[in-house]
Amino acid sequence: MLTWPPPQIPRLPGRGGPIRVRDTSTGELVVAATGHTATVYVCGITPYDATHLGHAATYIAFDLLVRSWRDAGHSVRHASNVTDVDDPLLERALATGVDWRDLAIEQTALFAEDMTALGVIPPDVYTGAVESVFTVAQAVRDLLAAGAAYRVEEPDGTGHGRGDVYADLSVDPDLGQVAGLDRDEMLALFAERGGDPARAGKRDPLDPLLWRRERPGEPSWDGGELGSGRPGWHIECAVIARDGLGLPFDVQGGGVDLRFPHHEMSTSHARLLDSGQGARLHMHAGMVGLDGEKMSKSRGNLVLVSRLRALGENPMAIRLAILAHHYASDWEWTDADLERARARLDRWQRAVSGNGGPDATATLAAVRTALSTDLDAPAALAAVDAWAEDALRADGTASTAIGAPGVVARTVNALLGVRL
Ligand code: ZN
Repeated sequence: MLTWPPPQIPRLPGRGGPIRVRDTSTGELVVAATGHTATVYVCGITPYDATHLGHAATYIAFDLLVRSWRDAGHSVRHASNVTDVDDPLLERALATGVDWRDLAIEQTALFAEDMTALGVIPPDVYTGAVESVFTVAQAVRDLLAAGAAYRVEEPDGTGHGRGDVYADLSVDPDLGQVAGLDRDEMLALFAERGGDPARAGKRDPLDPLLWRRERPGEPSWDGGELGSGRPGWHIECAVIARDGLGLPFDVQGGGVDLRFPHHEMSTSHARLLDSGQGARLHMHAGMVGLDGEKMSKSRGNLVLVSRLRALGENPMAIRLAILAHHYASDWEWTDADLERARARLDRWQRAVSGNGGPDATATLAAVRTALSTDLDAPAALAAVDAWAEDALRADGTASTAIGAPGVVARTVNALLGVRL
């Protein structure tokens, strides 16, 4: 798929150190990339409703990782997907009388506009579910041939020996390493988050769908010996990550609600496809709430980035409002977040508008240190706040270093993605 235009990233003096992040599988703070090329796969959107602040917070979190990796001298390879055919998209299209393809195209375009406005660096590999159907179908055939998958027939035999295909989790002894849940917890979340534990004919209630046979009125593709149908979501991400990054890769990320079953299952699939390893570590962004509830399409309590933009909100204020919260924390969106962010943006703009200002060497170092410690954006903002306060001090006691405002403006732009 086509991505959106990349933002300009200014060069900074010197170079940042190794980037450590918290691996949600182990809880440990670990170096996120060990080689020269740093690789990350971030699960993309299902394009049936525009970007809400929870999405924006997730993609900005991984944008910080990409920016810090670049600053540390890594060559970065970032892959993402768009789930442009899936049950919720088809349901929304049916409910609103829109062709599912038109809905996907329209919402994918709106997402790209939102990401452009928010200054998110586009992924290097950006693959839609539809354009990956045939490679995913091949992977499902490979898993069947390897004995890691099986067919489930309809009770009336309508599958004609070619029913839906499920992964056989019993062949993966490492299942459970991503989310670290016990079986009861896995069963509860699987049922809650789109799984089908009660499906008759499965060997284990947790076995996830790999290939869904065509149903009347649903789009389908030729799966060869699988019959016509479409892929399951977990195998789709496993294959797009494998083909875009190679296995193993450094980081798999997304919102924390993807931890189980999505990342557990896609990592299991990647392991079995490659007889090795999927992501080395997992990172998850917290949930953004509104009025005491998680912001989600199914609850309908969304604050949309496009709506805020249409109301004239500066996207950099939206970005700053998000950066004021650590990516891994759960937090509530309120209007006060935006007011504080506007005030901060205004202060920073005034502070960098002078010819000179307090020396910025320590500020750049503090921003780098904050981000290299599990992407601590609030600490990075505090370091810039401190510099801006010095610069704006009216009593004239602030020391002046020629060029310092430029260094701060470039720091904020390159590392935090905030254009002043
Ligand atoms: Zn995914």
